[in-house]
Amino acid sequence: MMSYQEMHQCSISQPAEFWGALAEELHWYRKWDTVLDDSNAPFFRWFVGGETNICYNAVDRHALGPKRGQAALIWESPEADQSRTLTFHELYREVNRLAATLKALGVQKGDRVIIYMPMVPEAIFSMLACARIGAIHSVVFGGFSISSLANRINDAEPTMILTADAGLRKGLPVPLKEIVDESLELATVDTVKHVLVLERGIVKNTMKEGRDLDWQTQVNEHGKPYVEPERMLSTDPLYILYTSGTTGKPKGVVRDTGGYMVALHASMGHIYDVGDGDVYWSTSDIGWVVGHSYIVYAPLLKGVPTIVFEGRPDHPDPGVWWRVIEKYGVTCMFTAPTALRALRKFPEHWMQQSDLSSLKRVFSAGEPLDGPTYDWATAMLGLPVIDHYWQTESGWSMIANSVGIEDLPIKSGSPTFAAMGHHLEVVDIDGNPVPRGEKGLLVDYPPLPPGMLLTLWNDDDRYLKSYWTHFKDKQLYLTGDYAIHDADGYFWLLGRADEVMNVSGHRLGTREIEEVVSSHPAIAEASVIGVRDELRGEAVLVVSVLKAHIVPAEQDKIANEIRQLVRERIGAIATPHGVHFVSTLPKTRSGKIMRRVIRAVYQGDNIGDLSTIEDDATVDMVREAVEIMKGEF
Ligand code: AMP
Repeated sequence: MMSYQEMHQCSISQPAEFWGALAEELHWYRKWDTVLDDSNAPFFRWFVGGETNICYNAVDRHALGPKRGQAALIWESPEADQSRTLTFHELYREVNRLAATLKALGVQKGDRVIIYMPMVPEAIFSMLACARIGAIHSVVFGGFSISSLANRINDAEPTMILTADAGLRKGLPVPLKEIVDESLELATVDTVKHVLVLERGIVKNTMKEGRDLDWQTQVNEHGKPYVEPERMLSTDPLYILYTSGTTGKPKGVVRDTGGYMVALHASMGHIYDVGDGDVYWSTSDIGWVVGHSYIVYAPLLKGVPTIVFEGRPDHPDPGVWWRVIEKYGVTCMFTAPTALRALRKFPEHWMQQSDLSSLKRVFSAGEPLDGPTYDWATAMLGLPVIDHYWQTESGWSMIANSVGIEDLPIKSGSPTFAAMGHHLEVVDIDGNPVPRGEKGLLVDYPPLPPGMLLTLWNDDDRYLKSYWTHFKDKQLYLTGDYAIHDADGYFWLLGRADEVMNVSGHRLGTREIEEVVSSHPAIAEASVIGVRDELRGEAVLVVSVLKAHIVPAEQDKIANEIRQLVRERIGAIATPHGVHFVSTLPKTRSGKIMRRVIRAVYQGDNIGDLSTIEDDATVDMVREAVEIMKGEF
């Protein structure tokens, strides 16, 4: 048995040997020529020359072997009051039928397909069917709305969109097909030939002749029992997943096929300590990276049943999650601090009513796991909640307690040590390591391990600018987070260093929301800031200046309109928690809004050392801004 230190050291010092051995555990049509090609750094390529298919590895490999009759996908929907379990064989059949249908409708290798679906089995069939035929899927979270979807359509230029009549949120329909229609109206590209609509019988659809097609009819007509999986190069894109950046335009994170597959497969054993006999439940949504990796690909690659849950932790009551664990004997659960915080509010009997003795491991990611939540969950579950840190770009853990290798002592609030293949450091603005225990920027030394983003879709330049060009003479991957590396080697995350918020574990760009707020006719200028929130981690605060002719009596109405506008255009997750009107927004020398000042004053923080609060302002400017803001809130 290797220790964590040995394993990690080996992954850093001999990456080709380390990852090459792990790749052998999977199926390749053609073996790679080179494990790692770093000749065009920072565009790292893994298993170059190798040919594989991730759908074959996640589905066929098990359906054609002894796991054929074993549960693969368990769908539990308190929203629709339905459940369904598919074996690997049944999943194989469904994926083949849909893959044949997509092909018959003209989807080709390399085409982009947007999946805008609720958490139903068909959404997972869709991802796997795309992967099977070599189409690049781009799943858009079903909680995002018109502008968000239109932006993604414009960027990905899909030939097809897969959707459903509606999703359900606390029993109320979210009319997905209608949102697709409106997004296509708003989009500036005209690449979508078909919209395939899953009819769940929740709302009535209007179907556009020639473009919109009924899912079931098409699958009945074109479905085939077998579609040869496309032989994909390891370096071919598997998917695009959009995430927020510091501009209004979302970043299309591009994932490869082979590197991602190898890293995810290895992570199941090394990080989650999961293998045969386990039942895995990631409570996320397929619209997020956690859902891509740990609802769909990783558990299936490992051949363990994955639970697909359509619902919320507190609907129809706060006992629903715990009943799912008891019903299916979940052994490993992967959740988020925001959900645990929400559940902590309810009386303990909701949890105590269910038998949770099957649980062996509980993980959390997406935002810092705060002490009180960690203490509560650990005591209630009788298990330590294992925090781990990663981001959309990484596809899997960057910092983790790799319990499958070695259970390291937990320090509550720290996600522990660098994950395999990640060589992390905390540095100053010049890229030099800061002394242990001091705050700095969290960076990853090249080469990036398999599974990390290839680039940003159609935008190599933005990839370089966003992640690689911050330090003059050093090529380091910038995570965008502040961190501390302590004397024992534990990492502590201190929040984003850029203008990106983390609301309920999900990244939202301030620019995206500002653009929507500024489109309101009464607004002269707006700033969006993430502020501390007990339940969500961060909440969206809008601070804006009204146009001169607006009278104070109209403020409440305008605030409500702004909330509504953001919900409609971006989605409920971005709904502003607070909307404040001020007479002026404080700015730095170069005209940047002093967000840190506004945030600090709003939160009532101790302003402390004013010299570091804004990069681009004098101490006097900051002091004056603090005084102005104090008068405004
Ligand atoms: P996303 O790409 O939406 O998954 O967001 C990634 C960001 O969430 C990271 O850059 C961090 O700011 C934050 N994050 C994720 N996991 C953790 C964690 N375990 N502890 C602290 N912050 C986290």
